[in-house]
Amino acid sequence: MTAQLIDGNALSKQIRADLARRTADLTAAGLQPGLAVILVGEDPASQVYVRNKVKACEDAGMRSVLEKYDATLSEADLLARIAALNADAAIHGILVQMPLPRHIDPHKVIEAISTTKDVDGYSTLSAGELMAGLPGFRPCTPWGAMKLIESTGQSLKGKHAVVIGRSNTVGKPMALLLLQANATVTICHSGTPDLGLHTRQADVVVAAVGRAGTVTADMVKPGAIVIDVGINRKADGKLTGDVDFGPVSEVAGWITPVPGGVGPMTITMLLSNTVEAAERLRK
Ligand code: NAP
Repeated sequence: MTAQLIDGNALSKQIRADLARRTADLTAAGLQPGLAVILVGEDPASQVYVRNKVKACEDAGMRSVLEKYDATLSEADLLARIAALNADAAIHGILVQMPLPRHIDPHKVIEAISTTKDVDGYSTLSAGELMAGLPGFRPCTPWGAMKLIESTGQSLKGKHAVVIGRSNTVGKPMALLLLQANATVTICHSGTPDLGLHTRQADVVVAAVGRAGTVTADMVKPGAIVIDVGINRKADGKLTGDVDFGPVSEVAGWITPVPGGVGPMTITMLLSNTVEAAERLRK
């Protein structure tokens, strides 16, 4: 392997230590940051995600409340729970784990969360703030990916970044964050005929597709920074990303692993947004 590994666990540890200090300060001032996590249904992956988020909160000294509901919970009842949490002064961040059961409109749910508690950064207001370059809650996964890129010490100014994927939660906000950092940005998606044509010119490649083997070694420019957001399960049950890790790490300059790259940083940025939400009340 010639690429340097960008270790998401190590970077998370550093950032979480700082968040724990800020949490202790807030707690001493009677403002312990509190995160409410709502899970509707029994999706096994979601159960793991919410457990990890709640544990990370508690490890950092924050208050966390996990509300689990049966998949039959009505949309009206979920909206009523969100309204109650919006009014709860001990809760600074509210996260509703996606996906929701089909009878619940995720957009309605996201928009019901108070904009001061939208620590996932999914609301249209948060998206607008990002678009306009205004301060606000940034979506945790792309923001964590940006921190991983920053940790390489490489400036993005004048660099060409290619984002593969254009979801509202990962691809699009990732592209906007890269643009804000003065990269020249290309967004690829399922309608892009020749992905390699774009990625081969990229100083930074961010893969957020959800398909193993999307980025192969012949698609990467020597020395590039490769950030793998994808999470895919292999036949043996192990997790893998969208990037063909072994061969690509012989070409790239920096690369994130899966697991241990973007995943831990997503949770770290959720904690960061929650601390920030509590700190705003002090200003
Ligand atoms: P998504 O909503 O399904 O979006 C996937 C995107 O990939 C879409 O924009 C799609 O294009 C594009 N795409 C699909 N096939 C493609 C192809 N052959 N070539 C180029 N683009 C293609 O997924 P997401 O929510 O953004 O998540 C992406 C991946 O990241 C998933 O594996 C997810 O599990 C993972 N993820 C990880 C974390 C983490 O913490 N590590 C957090 C969130 C998501 P179209 O728009 O044209 O359909």
